[in-house]
Amino acid sequence: MNDTTQNPFSPASASRPFNELPLSPGLLATLQQLGYSVMTPIQAASLPVTLAGHDLIAQAKTGSGKTAAFALPLLTRLNPRRFAVQAMVLCPTRELADQVTQEIRRLARSEDNIKILTLCGGSTMRPQIASLEHGAHIVVGTPGRIMDHMERGTLDLSALNTLVLDEADRMLDMGFYDDMAFIAKRCPSDRQTLLFSATYPEGISRLARQFMRHPQEVKLAEQHETGKIRQRFYEVSNEERLAAVGRLLRHYRPVSTLAFCNTKQQCRSLLEVLHAQGIYALTLNGDMEQRERDQVLIQFANRSCSVLVATDVAARGLDIAQLEAVINVDVTPDPEIHVHRIGRTGRADQDGWALSLCGPSDRQRIVSIAKMTGSVPEWHEISELKDEDDAPLVPPMVTLQILGGRKEKIRAGDVLGALTGDAGFTREQIGKINVTDFSTYVAVAHYIANEAVRKLNAGKVKGKSVKVRAL
Ligand code: ADP
Ligand code: MG
Repeated sequence: MNDTTQNPFSPASASRPFNELPLSPGLLATLQQLGYSVMTPIQAASLPVTLAGHDLIAQAKTGSGKTAAFALPLLTRLNPRRFAVQAMVLCPTRELADQVTQEIRRLARSEDNIKILTLCGGSTMRPQIASLEHGAHIVVGTPGRIMDHMERGTLDLSALNTLVLDEADRMLDMGFYDDMAFIAKRCPSDRQTLLFSATYPEGISRLARQFMRHPQEVKLAEQHETGKIRQRFYEVSNEERLAAVGRLLRHYRPVSTLAFCNTKQQCRSLLEVLHAQGIYALTLNGDMEQRERDQVLIQFANRSCSVLVATDVAARGLDIAQLEAVINVDVTPDPEIHVHRIGRTGRADQDGWALSLCGPSDRQRIVSIAKMTGSVPEWHEISELKDEDDAPLVPPMVTLQILGGRKEKIRAGDVLGALTGDAGFTREQIGKINVTDFSTYVAVAHYIANEAVRKLNAGKVKGKSVKVRAL
């Protein structure tokens, strides 16, 4: 039953057994009982680092075994005879907190007296407070509820030695940036901090700089199954190049597209052409202030802007989980950059389109790309693209800007509460919420946008009237 060839994570050649790690005999026996015969790649890369006590930032895709990667070090440090919270795991949602709790319970079963408590919103406080009074070794919960307990003084973290942020990218998406920072800063400073994430958006390193100590980084580059990125090349003349972008968009109808140009000037020209065609596009460039840049990234990531136009430099560090298409408006002379560009689509379990527009002088570049990737380019004609009905490409969401943010102590939950409470919208009509210093951005389904602006302007957020506009 412990046949390594059945392990879905790791080919036999790369498999490394858990018993090369400094784990207790009890934990090793549990792992064997669970059928965890070898480490997954993220476990093999991160466990030596975390068991040695270092802070860690680990990025690996969903389903890669990240829970055990943080559960094993925290269980190793745990003293069951000490009745105090020694480890805490923050998760974005109740469902994820429940899953993490279950996995830690399974891994902890050789020690029968370890108490693990889940603390999430949506449950009454009183039983949680009673359980905390009884003593817990490990707490798993969502940031909002954990903060509630900290503020009421019902959660004592003075004995905490391990803090884990699980699915940190999703917590950022949900507007928990400040809550995570608040919580981390109130944990003992000699703790170990472990941050796990499926993607690596800009916010992660900003967050880590605030409260992690010399974190080591482990990233498992996503292996793109070639099937997931469908790559097509279109031959165009230089005159038709910019107009062809709109035709690709109306044909493939991706919700979010990153369009790469080789120069800033080309980015500006493309933006004009797309706007003239009624396509909602934004651009990023080095001259923008941070606040403008944030606004662009927020709108693109929350699906209220169809196209982000950028040069390679401007797009550096950008990691957007859901990207249906990458368009190479200009082909890059560097085949490695090409591979990097198109690798931004087809993430997770989604398909992605990589569409390249090639002028007569780009031919040689395509040959080098094909040589480097060992693939045969698939050529198509612009004339194959349907253009007649011209149904406009409308982003599914609209971003509303609420004047007032962190400085006014607005939290994501307050905005969600205002929209789903008095305003009467459903959770499904509300998208990402981003709280910045002076503004809060909330994505709402485009068909409720006007009504949402009206109701928010007439109502209250966190007991106060607010000014709201659609971007
Ligand atoms: P992630 O947090 O990266 O999305 P999980 O921690 O939820 O992934 O793990 C995914 C699944 O893999 C779980 O069912 C878990 O029990 C299983 N798993 C984790 N590590 C191993 C291992 N070393 N061998 C076999 N299965 C494992
Ligand atoms: Mg996980």
